[in-house]
Amino acid sequence: MTVWDSLVGQREAVDVLRLAASAAVDIVAGQPVSPGSMTHAWLFTGPPGSGRSVAARAFAAAMQCEVLQDPGCGRCSACHTVLSRSHPDVHSVVPEGLSISVAEMRAVVGTAGRRPAMGRWQVVLIEDADRLTEAASNALLKAVEEPPARTVFLLCAPSTHPEDVAVTIRSRCRHIALRTPPAAAVAQVLTDSGVEAELAAWAAQAGQGHVGRARRLARDEEARQRRSAVLAIPASLTSLSACLAAADHLVTTAEAEAKEISSELDAGETEALQVALGAGGTGKGSAGAARGTAGAVRELEKRQKSRATRTQRDALDRALVDLAAFYRDVLLLQAGSTAASAHPDFAGDVRVVARRISSAEALQRLDAVLGCREALTLNVKPRIAVEAMTTALRLP
Ligand SMILES: [Zn+2]
Repeated sequence: MTVWDSLVGQREAVDVLRLAASAAVDIVAGQPVSPGSMTHAWLFTGPPGSGRSVAARAFAAAMQCEVLQDPGCGRCSACHTVLSRSHPDVHSVVPEGLSISVAEMRAVVGTAGRRPAMGRWQVVLIEDADRLTEAASNALLKAVEEPPARTVFLLCAPSTHPEDVAVTIRSRCRHIALRTPPAAAVAQVLTDSGVEAELAAWAAQAGQGHVGRARRLARDEEARQRRSAVLAIPASLTSLSACLAAADHLVTTAEAEAKEISSELDAGETEALQVALGAGGTGKGSAGAARGTAGAVRELEKRQKSRATRTQRDALDRALVDLAAFYRDVLLLQAGSTAASAHPDFAGDVRVVARRISSAEALQRLDAVLGCREALTLNVKPRIAVEAMTTALRLP
C-alpha cells in the first residue's frame, strides 16, 4: 500500500502531489524540474473528513521516502516514521486549545529553518491553519515569504476563505482542493479493510462523506448507538421538558466521549513527561529539579484541559452534523426529491416530523442547528447553545 492509498476518492489531488514529490527528489539531486511542479508552501482545503491532513501527511512522507522513483512507497522507514508522526524533519503544529499561539508558531518556524537532520526536506505541517491567531499567522507569513531552501510548509484549512486563511498567506501557497469523497469510494475502503459489504455501504452513507466517521460507525457499536440516540431526538421533542432532556443528553454524551478520548491521551503524556524529567530523583539539585518538574506538569495539565474542551466541542459538532442532515432529509421528503437521504434508517422519524411541520418550519430548524454549531465556534457555553437549539426544534 502506498501513502496515496489512504486518500479516498481524490485522484486529481494525488496526481498533482505525486508529480511534486518526484520533482522534490530531482531538486535535491540538483536536476532541473518543470516549473511549478514543486513549491515551498501548500494549502490543502476540503470539508471535514475529506482527508486534508491525511493528504498533507502522505505528501510529507513522499518527500522523505527512501524510494526515489515515484516516492511514497508506504513501506520504507522514512514513510513509516512520517506517518507515525516520529520523523525528525516533519514538524506538526496541532492546536491543543482552540487556537495556535504565536509562541508555538515561532518555535516551529525556528526549527524549520535548520537543515534537515535525516530526510531531504524540513516539513512543517499545520493541521488547522484556520486556528492560527493573527500574531501566529504573521510569524508564519514571514517564513513563507522567505522560505529556507529545503523547507516546505503544508497548511490544512476548511476553505480558502479569508476567515480560514489570511489572504497574504493564501497567495503564496499552491492550492490543493479535496472534495467530499463519494459514498461508493468510502464503502470500498471499508470493505477492503475487512468490513462486511452491507455494513460498509450503510456506514459510508451515514458518515456523509467523512471517512473517519464512516470507519468508526462501521467498527464501533457504541458510536452507532450514540448516532441512533441523536437521530431519535427530533421526533421526541413534543414538550419543553423533552427539549431540555435532549439538550442534557447531547451535552453529557459529548462530555463522556471527550473524557474517554482525553484520559487515554493524558495518562500517556503525563507518564512520558515524568520519565523525561526524571521525576523522583534524589541527590544534589533535586529540589530545584522538582520545582521545574511541577511547573512543566502544570503546563501540560493546562494544555490537556484546553484539549479536552476542544474534543468535547468536536464530539458535539458530530452530533449536530447528524441532526442537520436529519432536517435536510425532512426537506427532501417534503419536496418530493429523490436525492439520496443521509439517514435512510431513520426514514420513519423523518416522515413523522415532515407531517408535523411545514417546509418553512423545517428550514427554521435546520437554521437552528447550524446556528448552534456557529455559536459553539464562538465559545458560547455548550449547554446554553444546545438548550437554545433543542427548544427551537420543538414540534408544534
Ligand atoms: Zn517510502
